[in-house]
Amino acid sequence: MKALSLQSIGHLELVDLPKPRPAADQLLIRTAAATICTSDLNDIRENPFGIQLPVVMGHEAAGVVADVGKSVQGFKVDDRVATHPVHPCQKCEQCRAGRAHLCTNMGHFGLNMQGTFAEYYLVRADRARRLADSVDLATATLAEPVCVCLQALAQAKAAAGSNLLIIGDGPFSLIMARSAAGMGLSQVVLAGRHDFRLSRAGGATTLNLRNAPDPLSLLSSSSPAGGFDAVIATVGAIEAVQWGLELLRPKGRLVLFAAMPGQSPVDLFRVHVKELEIVGACNDEDRFDHAVRLLADEQLKLHELITHRLPWQQYEQAFSLAANRHDAALKVTLIWDNEAAR
Ligand SMILES: [Zn+2]
Ligand SMILES: [Zn+2]
Repeated sequence: MKALSLQSIGHLELVDLPKPRPAADQLLIRTAAATICTSDLNDIRENPFGIQLPVVMGHEAAGVVADVGKSVQGFKVDDRVATHPVHPCQKCEQCRAGRAHLCTNMGHFGLNMQGTFAEYYLVRADRARRLADSVDLATATLAEPVCVCLQALAQAKAAAGSNLLIIGDGPFSLIMARSAAGMGLSQVVLAGRHDFRLSRAGGATTLNLRNAPDPLSLLSSSSPAGGFDAVIATVGAIEAVQWGLELLRPKGRLVLFAAMPGQSPVDLFRVHVKELEIVGACNDEDRFDHAVRLLADEQLKLHELITHRLPWQQYEQAFSLAANRHDAALKVTLIWDNEAAR
């Protein structure tokens, strides 16, 4: 089979590999679509997690069951499925404590498992979900991004009637904004730097900070009286943290969804006097079923966030679009099986 392998930093190459065979608890998936994630771009550029190379990249994918491990129940050949890249070990302290998303020994597509930029990949059957016919398989590649966005909203304690500021306008921010609107929040504000991306924010109020002489005062102008209930920082920029702490109401919550580079100087005085909470959000806590329901939600129109669908043969162009065209591209998807991805 054909696959895209990161051979060394900066070198993503098309390779030929034997088609994998499922273990007893696995499904073999014939890839229909696999979407490029910011983390793929980071891995290609600098491999920040020190992944052992070479590795077949990719983790956001969906496809059709091609073979079923002998102890798997509930799936059959030709089922259309979404898959989740995170495979908790189910044995470690975190897994046994019900925090499988923080497993210290997890398998993950494209890190220590074969990734999804390939004609076929393996998934443990508990990390796959059958899809409604109405969900196309390119949109279904967003299952895990939707999962982690739901986690961020849960960490923000987003609920009907509450308000939320999201700082950052990448695809994850847009998924959060759309999902939050669907949860009945009274106000969702999304602040970013690209008009094109901000235009895809669903019902959220949007602010472009790019040319603002004083971004904080622009953000303040959209703040509810007393401040925001929660702020989610989806960009790895310390300003987002500083603005968030400034704009939260007393007892508000700041969610760190992005990795902040290096040591971060933060004004903790505000945390002290406003009794703020600062929490992280990274992987998701069992939100796969919810995410699969949202993929089929006609109101959220998550399919709109996939702006480009390219045949896998055009992978160089696809990665370049995802890396460089923030003015025109959100999620860029490689189509591996035209028939199935329709
Ligand atoms: Zn991803
Ligand atoms: Zn574990």
